[in-house]
Amino acid sequence: MSTVAIKDVTKIWPDGTTAVDRVSVDVNDGEFMVLLGPSGCGKSTILRMIAGLEDPTSGDILLNGEPVLNLAPRDRSIAMVFQDFALYPHMTVGENIGFPLKLSGVDSSPRGERVGDVASALGIGDVLARKPAQLSGGQRQRVAMGRAIVRRPGLFLMDEPLSNLDSGLRAELRAEITGLTRELGVTTMYVTHDQAEALTMADRVAILRKGVLQDVGTPTEVYGRP
Ligand code: ADP
Ligand code: ADP
Repeated sequence: MSTVAIKDVTKIWPDGTTAVDRVSVDVNDGEFMVLLGPSGCGKSTILRMIAGLEDPTSGDILLNGEPVLNLAPRDRSIAMVFQDFALYPHMTVGENIGFPLKLSGVDSSPRGERVGDVASALGIGDVLARKPAQLSGGQRQRVAMGRAIVRRPGLFLMDEPLSNLDSGLRAELRAEITGLTRELGVTTMYVTHDQAEALTMADRVAILRKGVLQDVGTPTEVYGRP
């Protein structure tokens, strides 16, 4: 279970660029929030601040009511997925998915069981022994998601995870991602510049333009009925 509270957050880079300008928004427990806006509007910067990878210049980001920077990285229970899947090329699919468990000291037998469950849920149970180079783009993205969720994070941050895939596969994976996150009950912040993607996936959408939050609401509240 996880909530995020972004309170009056500004990020100004050392060169003077204001990437994020007094943004406030809450993400509720179990909610699928889409952060939508054109390239360069500050979406990734917001995700990186939620993950504790960048400090806000001012304002606060609370994870379950605690400032994220006060929490040790291992206590944040956050998983991130990016567009460039960043799989380990020398490891098999099974080893890739199981790697976070191995790092946290989970024994081989329970690890294998958990990896099998996650891979089956993602429809890649039959390719566990392959290396990433032997997979399709869609399979690679499923492996990246599997690796992200294998430790059952409370918060899932996704940065344009589908933008390198063709449109048919994108549509298929949109439904899979929302299905999976709902099944797991994981709170999700999903970044995209694709309005159609936002409308089909979001519980609520937050629209960002030039670092400023324009609107937040359900797709119907924000765009009205078609
Ligand atoms: P988006 O994810 O919406 O494409 P970003 O958050 O990546 O936008 O970038 C927002 C703004 O901040 C852009 O003007 C970008 O060039 C700038 N920016 C991003 N990262 C850095 C950085 N590490 N140093 C300086 N400027 C950055
Ligand atoms: P995205 O739009 O997906 O965020 P970018 O190409 O804007 O991707 O950024 C890629 C990387 O470069 C990120 O780590 C970002 O923080 C960094 N970056 C972006 N703009 C700048 C900048 N003006 N100065 C320094 N680093 C930057």
